[in-house]
Amino acid sequence: MNKDWSDMNRQMQALISRKTTFREGVEKLLELRKSLLEQIQQIATTCPPEAFWQMPFAGAKGYHSKTLAYSIWHIFRIEDIVAHEMIAGDRQVLFEQGFSESVRSPIITTGNELSGEAIPAFSRQLDVKALCRYARAVAQSTEGILSRIEHSDLKRKFGEDMVDKLRRTGCVSEDENASWLIDYWCSRDVLGLIRMPFSRHWIMHIEAMLRIRNQLCRRARKGVDPVAYCGFSCNHCFLGEWCGSCRTAYNICSFATISPDGKCPNAVCCQGKGIDGCYECDDLESCEVGFYTLSNDGALAAKAQAMYIRAHGKKAFLQVHDRLHQKYDFEKTQEILGQDYREGLRILEEN
Ligand code: SF4
Ligand code: SF4
Repeated sequence: MNKDWSDMNRQMQALISRKTTFREGVEKLLELRKSLLEQIQQIATTCPPEAFWQMPFAGAKGYHSKTLAYSIWHIFRIEDIVAHEMIAGDRQVLFEQGFSESVRSPIITTGNELSGEAIPAFSRQLDVKALCRYARAVAQSTEGILSRIEHSDLKRKFGEDMVDKLRRTGCVSEDENASWLIDYWCSRDVLGLIRMPFSRHWIMHIEAMLRIRNQLCRRARKGVDPVAYCGFSCNHCFLGEWCGSCRTAYNICSFATISPDGKCPNAVCCQGKGIDGCYECDDLESCEVGFYTLSNDGALAAKAQAMYIRAHGKKAFLQVHDRLHQKYDFEKTQEILGQDYREGLRILEEN
């Protein structure tokens, strides 16, 4: 499990169960959920539509054997049902805010009953943008519920009435892979529900989503030119594990993730000019677009690399990188090339 999330989850669990630190525990839970939700948001912004119905680990054991769309649907259907049918006793967000139409899901259940090819087939039918809006709406609604919960509510239990009520909603399939959920939820008190559907369940599925996304990126990068538009080498990039290259639809470089359209400004600019990379651009030295933004600490190292490619070509550039990585232990090229592109170019040429 991701160490930060695991630590936050552990702290939250300890804080929330004690009366004196209960509110602090709720704050920690909200912090954890914010961090996890950002991951979903980043995946939604940077991955192409087809990523949401691919199943790169089909047949594997574990949450990563599903699709991205299924995972989002499943996490937030469970939370919606538990938060509203069980804890708040009001209408689920899916129905209250009209998401059952906009998400275009053929089911209202948690999806546990789906298996094999039914999962990508189901995922293809979903409107992913609406699905992400649904996820945010559920998360926000749960935060409202959490802000109203008192420490004394944590021990509230659920009996047979709740079992019957949940069965009547039709939100949990009668399939044996799903029906156990109702008994599981009703065997927990409110604290138990906070500890699983509202926190740990998110972590497990979002980690699985990252695994799926990373695998799709690895596949996307196969056979693609390893020199990025800005002049970095994807073969030597510390983001290479989860970025599918700016030359594919899986561009998850740092500037793509912070751009509203999920696209790296350097890639967009090069494509607009019809050039292979910034190394072919006459404005390279003075450019401050995207990765070359002066406040970016890797800007001038990237520029030094683009200038090297312009002078010596991509093959020589990749060979220099191989040699630099044999010689030095570094993650980011600016650790070696520094903050002056002429000096960076000189270092590259000397190696
Ligand atoms: S961040 Fe840039 S250099 Fe790194 S893998 Fe992605 S596109 Fe390539
Ligand atoms: S203007 Fe800047 S970002 Fe655009 S192609 Fe030229 S060097 Fe690259």
